[in-house]
Amino acid sequence: MLSSTYSTAEPNVRTEVHGILYGTRTEPPRGHWVQITRVNLNRPCCVNITSGKWDEPRRDCKACEGLGFFPTLVYVRSRRSYLQGDEQAAAPQIFHIDKVRYYVEHNVFENEKQAELSRLYEIRLDSVGNIVRPIERLVGYNVQVATPFREDSGRIQYWAIDVEKIEV
Ligand SMILES: [Zn+2]
Repeated sequence: MLSSTYSTAEPNVRTEVHGILYGTRTEPPRGHWVQITRVNLNRPCCVNITSGKWDEPRRDCKACEGLGFFPTLVYVRSRRSYLQGDEQAAAPQIFHIDKVRYYVEHNVFENEKQAELSRLYEIRLDSVGNIVRPIERLVGYNVQVATPFREDSGRIQYWAIDVEKIEV
């Protein structure tokens, strides 16, 4: 599916991915809701970027949750998979216990930097997969490697997000 091959002549990968994650008229959604703290790279909080080199953000900063940049909370459907074999070899940065990869739509992130500074959270869902409010975070992940899959034109089709578990 998402990781399988597809024709580069296929103009509707974005539509296909949307249908997989959110469902279509005939298919149920196969993605589940997650929360992403998506950083705004043009809104630094507790990082100093004047030198051109970012300092470490304050881990205990309440305003940005230690991300260093003010985040926007976004809720999107994603597919979770577990890296195995060749896929692990393709992501040698991942050698930790939780080899988890998420797939999200093309428009969730603008670029790799933004994706890799953001975090992803599993949240409580009800029995039919709807978000339970108030929001309850269950598991949190830092993004280790964010890979945009692109068309020949360079346009992003979807993102693969390799993550590492953090304390919630
Ligand atoms: Zn901060």
